[in-house]
Amino acid sequence: MNWEIVMGLEVHAELSTKSKIFCGCTTEFGGEPNTHVCPVCSGMPGTLPRLNRSVVEYALRVGLALDCEITRHCKFDRKNYFYPDLPKAYQVSQLYAPICRDGKLEIETDGTVGKKKTIAIREIHMEEDAGKLVHGKGGTLMDFNRCGVPLLEIVSQPDFSSADEVIAYLEKLRETLLYLDVCDCKMQEGSLRADVNLSVRQAGGELGVRTEMKNLNSFKAIGRAIEYEAARQIKLLEKGGRVVQETRRWDDDEGVSLGMRSKEDAQDYRYFPEPDLLPMEISGEWLVEIRGNLPEPAHMKRERYTRDLGLTGSEASLLTSHKNISAIFEAIAERSGEPTETARLMTGEIMRLVNDTNTLPEDLHIDERKFATLIALVTTEKINRNAYKETIEAVFLHDADPEAYIAEKGLMMVSDDSAITRAVAEVLDANPAAIAEYREGKEKVFGFLMGQVMRKLGGAGNPDIIKKSLKEMLDE
Ligand code: ZN
Ligand code: MN
Repeated sequence: MNWEIVMGLEVHAELSTKSKIFCGCTTEFGGEPNTHVCPVCSGMPGTLPRLNRSVVEYALRVGLALDCEITRHCKFDRKNYFYPDLPKAYQVSQLYAPICRDGKLEIETDGTVGKKKTIAIREIHMEEDAGKLVHGKGGTLMDFNRCGVPLLEIVSQPDFSSADEVIAYLEKLRETLLYLDVCDCKMQEGSLRADVNLSVRQAGGELGVRTEMKNLNSFKAIGRAIEYEAARQIKLLEKGGRVVQETRRWDDDEGVSLGMRSKEDAQDYRYFPEPDLLPMEISGEWLVEIRGNLPEPAHMKRERYTRDLGLTGSEASLLTSHKNISAIFEAIAERSGEPTETARLMTGEIMRLVNDTNTLPEDLHIDERKFATLIALVTTEKINRNAYKETIEAVFLHDADPEAYIAEKGLMMVSDDSAITRAVAEVLDANPAAIAEYREGKEKVFGFLMGQVMRKLGGAGNPDIIKKSLKEMLDE
């Protein structure tokens, strides 16, 4: 039978605001258990929440970047449940008036190069994270450090039909959140987590019953969990069984998903408007200001780099792989006025040095002035490519001053005709056998002679002039 997989995604992104959503506690990851807490986020009776304005701003940045409609009159609701990791026993979230609605994100999957698919985003709402349960021998302990860390829940429509599409979407979403500077997207620390709702149906037929897999936190686990769950449902249905609507836990070590609890519907949460927080009015001026400050998204940068700067597609992809890399590229390109040469520098020597030194893209600090100077020196033929490469390394590794380094090492390119002619004559005098071979047609010898002249000039000779001079003297 011909089965189709239908999936929707709920992504939780922890926002990188300094403080929590309703109190002044730090959002920093880790820390000694229960040290990032106060009476508000530990749910003491009688305390009142105070909304962190930055959380709303971050939500608006994401919503505008994903082409959402903004709910200008927006409010919070209480989602009630009994979970030991949330001491208030309810989560402040948004049900009736989520801050953003009806957005979209365009993806491209490997299977369909150049073919784009638009994933509709149903809504984005703000809410608070829960704490952590630490299960041990003596029982279960509670760490409330994460309670009240702000979350955005980004809910898609059921527009996905393969694991590849899901992963392409998550990668694009991750790129977007990183460029917007709203989330560090460290999946291993849980700052980006995805829940997958999955059902199967006969091609074109009615939607099947879905299951939900929660808190998947690596792309690999997501891909495996989807494959497994789709196969499980198909097998069940083909045997005449029924899929039960439930939440399932993916066990990545065992490679299986296990039923956890049957899925509550929204009414089971007994949502009601949060009485401790006033509704918000989002002003038009604020939206205009936020929109004006949105960074250029990565995919538009890629287009601009190829279209306006003449870079290749692979250069553009590499340069936008992290916003810090593209920022450095743009700074050097602007200072030097040489985008092509800068792209070559960044994707070549700099990337090699980044890899050799195990530097994370976000930790890369580069003195753009020094590199712009170096580019000027090589493009105006003050130094040759060998000297350029050597100086790049000295600047990158030891923060050398390029001009001082070049002077000290005698790397200024020798373009002086008389000095080059003299060196060529000396090399030819010393190598009569090579000249004879060259004249017999062994062209390889030319490279050897070039090398000898370059060595005589301390590696700093102008290769074009050496070549010309050597040719002239050999052909005499
Ligand atoms: Zn607190
Ligand atoms: Mn949620």
